Amino acid sequence: SFKVAIIGRPNVGKSTLFNRLVGKKLALVDDTPGVTRDRRVHAAKLYDLHFDVIDTAGFEDAAAATLPGRMRQQTEIAIREADLIFFTVDAKSGLMPDDRTFAEVVRKSGKPVVLVANKAEARGAQGGLLEAWELGLGEPIPVSAEHGQGMPDLRDAVVEALGEERTFGEDDEDDSDEIAASEVLIGEDIADPDAEAAYDDTKPLRIAVVGRPNAGKSTLINALIGEERLLTGPEAGITRDSISVDWDWRGRRIKLFDTAGMRRKSKVQEKLEKLSVQDGLRAIRFAEIVIIVLDATIPFEKQDLQIADLIIREGRAPVIAFNKWDLIDNPQELLAELREKTERLLPQVRGIQAVTVSAETGRGLDKLMDSVIKTHKVWNSRVSTGKLNRWLEGILAHHPPPAVAGRRLKIKYVTQAKTRPPGFVVSCSRPDAMPQSYVRYLTNSLREAFDMPGVPIRMALRTSD
Ligand code: GDP
Repeated sequence: SFKVAIIGRPNVGKSTLFNRLVGKKLALVDDTPGVTRDRRVHAAKLYDLHFDVIDTAGFEDAAAATLPGRMRQQTEIAIREADLIFFTVDAKSGLMPDDRTFAEVVRKSGKPVVLVANKAEARGAQGGLLEAWELGLGEPIPVSAEHGQGMPDLRDAVVEALGEERTFGEDDEDDSDEIAASEVLIGEDIADPDAEAAYDDTKPLRIAVVGRPNAGKSTLINALIGEERLLTGPEAGITRDSISVDWDWRGRRIKLFDTAGMRRKSKVQEKLEKLSVQDGLRAIRFAEIVIIVLDATIPFEKQDLQIADLIIREGRAPVIAFNKWDLIDNPQELLAELREKTERLLPQVRGIQAVTVSAETGRGLDKLMDSVIKTHKVWNSRVSTGKLNRWLEGILAHHPPPAVAGRRLKIKYVTQAKTRPPGFVVSCSRPDAMPQSYVRYLTNSLREAFDMPGVPIRMALRTSD
C-alpha cells in the first residue's frame, strides 16, 4: 500500500477530494485554530486501488492569506511522508501565485505527482485546465471532487505515476479477496477517453524460441540473426552474452534468449536439450513473446500444446511459426486446417498469431517478426477505466450475470490492474458464485471490444461491499 498527500493552496477543494477518497465525511474535530494538528492518515479507495491519504486539512486553520511558515512546513512533512502527491489546483479560478509556490515545493521533492485539476465541471474551467500545464507537473487530470467526476481517469493516473509494481505491490493478481472494493465513485469521465499510455518501442523486445527438437529452432534463429547481419554489415549490431543475443530487426531492438546448444549442436547437447525442461522454462520466463516453432510436416502433438499452455500460464504471449513450409504441397488446405486446430486447442489466447515460415529459405520471417511486434503491443496494452466501464454498461444491459440461488449477481466496475499481460479486476457481489462460463464470456467480449487477440487475459474477481 502507498501513501498519498493531497497538496495545494487553500480552497482548491482538497478536503472535498479527501472526503471522496476516504468515502465518508470525517468530522474535523479538536484543535484550536493555530495549534498544530497531528497529521492523520486515513484508508482510501479509488476503484481497485487501496491506499492511505495523509490528512492535511487542518493546516489551513493556521493559514492567513499568504503562506505561513507552519503550513509550508507541514506540507513539506506530508510530502516527505508520501509516496505520491495529488497536487490539486482549482480549474475554475485558474492558477494563483500560491499554486506556483506549492508546485515548486512539490517538484523539488522529486516525488511522483498526479496533477489534479479540480472543479473541472464548472463553466469556464477549460481555461484553468490548460493553464495547469504551466506548472510543469505533467498532464492535469480534470475532476470534480464534489460531483465525483473524472475518478476513472484519476485512478489511471495514479497507476501511471506510481507504476504497476508500486501501486499493486508484488502480489499476484489472484490473491486478492481480502481487499474489499469501494463504494466510491463510478463517475463520468471528463478527460479525453482516448488518452492512453503509448507503446514504448525503444526498449529491447525479449523473445524466446521454443519447440520440439528438430522443429527448426536453431535454423530459425540463425536465419533471423543472419539475415539481419547481412543488412547491418558483417560485425555490426549483434552482441552476445551468456543468455541472450541482441540485435536489431528493421530498427527494432530485439533480445533473444539463447538456448544453450542452439547454434552449434553436438550429440551431447542434443541429449541435454531433450532433458532440459528447465531450460525451456527459463527461456519462457526470460521472454515477453515466445515463438513456438512447429514442424508443419508433423501434426500438432500433445507436447506442443503443453508448451503453449505453459507459456500462457506464465503470462507470456505465444506466436506460432509453422516451419518447413517449403516442404508442403497443399499449403492452402493445410493452413486452414492448422489455423482451425490452433483456435480450437488454444481458446485461452483466441486470435493467436500463426505464421507460415521456412527457416531454411528465410520466407515468412518478416511476417513472423511483424506478428511478434503486433502481439507485443497487445500484450502491453492498457484500457482506460472510463472505457472499460462504458463497455461494462453495455454488457450489463444486454447480457448481465445470471442469478444464483435466486439472487442476481452484480458487477460494480471493471478496472485494468496490470499489463504484460493485460489483467483486469472485476468488482462483483459474490466472486465465488460467479460461474466460470460468465467469466469466460466477459473475457472474450473484452478481448473483442478492445482488440486484444492472441494474448492471455487475466481476470480477478473481487468482492464489492
Ligand atoms: P531444432 O532442434 O529445433 O533446433 O532444429 P534444427 O534447426 O536443428 O533443424 C532440424 C532439421 O530441420 C535440420 O536438418 C534443418 O536443416 C531442418 N530445417 C529447419 N528448418 C527448415 C525449413 O524451413 N525447411 C526445411 N526443409 N528444413 C528445415
